[in-house]
Amino acid sequence: MQQNTQPLNILMVAAEIVPFVKVGGLADVVGALPKALKALGHDVRLVMPRYRQVDPERFHLTKVLSAVPVSMGDYQVQVDVLQGTIGENVPVYMIDAPRYFERENIYGYTDDGERFILFCRAALEVVRALAWPPDIIHCNDWHTGIIPNWMQTVYQDDPFFQNTATVYTIHNLAYQGIFGYRLLEVAGVAENGFLYPHITELANVVDVMGRGILFADVITTVSERYAQEILTPAFGEKLDHLLRSRKERVFGILNGIDYQEFDPAIDRYIHTNFDAHSLDKRVENKADLQEHAHLPVRPDIPLLGMISRLADQKGFDILAQIMQPLLAQGVQFVVLGIGDQKYHELFQNLAARYPDQVAIFLTFNSELAQRIYAGSDMFLMPSRFEPCGLSQMIAMRYGSVPIVRYVGGLADTVPEYNPETEEGTGFVFHDYDPWALFASIIRATTVYRLKDEWRKLQLRGMDADHSWHRSAIRYVEVYRKALEFHQ
Ligand code: ADP
Repeated sequence: MQQNTQPLNILMVAAEIVPFVKVGGLADVVGALPKALKALGHDVRLVMPRYRQVDPERFHLTKVLSAVPVSMGDYQVQVDVLQGTIGENVPVYMIDAPRYFERENIYGYTDDGERFILFCRAALEVVRALAWPPDIIHCNDWHTGIIPNWMQTVYQDDPFFQNTATVYTIHNLAYQGIFGYRLLEVAGVAENGFLYPHITELANVVDVMGRGILFADVITTVSERYAQEILTPAFGEKLDHLLRSRKERVFGILNGIDYQEFDPAIDRYIHTNFDAHSLDKRVENKADLQEHAHLPVRPDIPLLGMISRLADQKGFDILAQIMQPLLAQGVQFVVLGIGDQKYHELFQNLAARYPDQVAIFLTFNSELAQRIYAGSDMFLMPSRFEPCGLSQMIAMRYGSVPIVRYVGGLADTVPEYNPETEEGTGFVFHDYDPWALFASIIRATTVYRLKDEWRKLQLRGMDADHSWHRSAIRYVEVYRKALEFHQ
């Protein structure tokens, strides 16, 4: 039995990690949480694929293992392992398997299932080759869902992993990794067959995330509210039944943000650094953003920012319905995002029709993102669902006031402005409805004109603590719970 203070060996397995590769919030989380765990005294190591996008020179990668054999059901693959680091010497092992990861994009291939099976199997074989048995394997999202399945089957009697418990974190239940039967053979778990014959939509498919949920010692997700929501049919994405059956093992732990990376006082990408004591300087960032976006440089016009995957999840359908009345209010809009073609077209059309009010950047650009956080007055997140959401926390840290729907992590991190109690850090609407969203933006633009009130609102947001320290302590508690469940 582990002592409650004993440092743990924690292997964090993820498909994307900042600063190497980032598609969404997953990468931010896995790039930051390990540093906070390390600061608490644990031995944390990470493993991710070595994608073509990861430049070995830029990240000073060194080769640590060659030709590690990895079983893929009826065939075998050999992988090399490169090593990089994050933070204060947290090792990041990168599985180098060019046939699988030397590609133009990170995801989106018909063999994604096999690519990540290979990755996961290699992750386990690498720690064995390094003679470093983990106490905890912390798996993230569908890409790693097979690991808990293996730990209860093919690796069950493996002495090396005898005392290893699994924690499976759902960053977004909407992406489950759904494949055909062949994947079970590749993973070597075909004898279990399909796992959900009783759920019509899942009866004949391999749902990798479902497997993670079914077999993990503990399941976590990234806010307390989302942990409750996913137990219901409305948010459960067909896995609510399964999640309910394991609900005593489901925990919500709010994500933090990386306070070194997201700090307006030292951010290299923004025009003028500022902090709570020099908030007046912030307006220079607004001017810089307006100029960059070819919008009239006017300090008095409310500037709304959005930085987001352009996906249905993020509420663009309700936003589209109120764009015209919103623009009639005279506000400016800067949107940075990439995703569904229909939303690319929506914003392109709006920018063409309202060049003085709407600017759209259809790209992924972290530097521009920081400039938008630093230069916008308000930050919009009208999500249909939102497991945690990082952008609203970053926005608050940069003095941009969030306007959010009361859902998932947005509900847990943005209390509504209350002039009487002088509390709250943003504006919140409840129903997924265009006019509820519209009303919340009007509330924001009204308060925006009351300069002193607005300033206090900004300062409260900048002062809110969304650092990783507290959440890392919670994760360690949950790791110890996983070890108890594993006994
Ligand atoms: P999700 O994980 O659902 O995409 P989050 O709010 O949790 O949403 O995290 C999104 C992260 O990705 C934030 O750090 C945000 O700034 C960043 N981001 C999203 N789209 C872009 C983009 N086009 N360019 C730069 N950064 C982006």
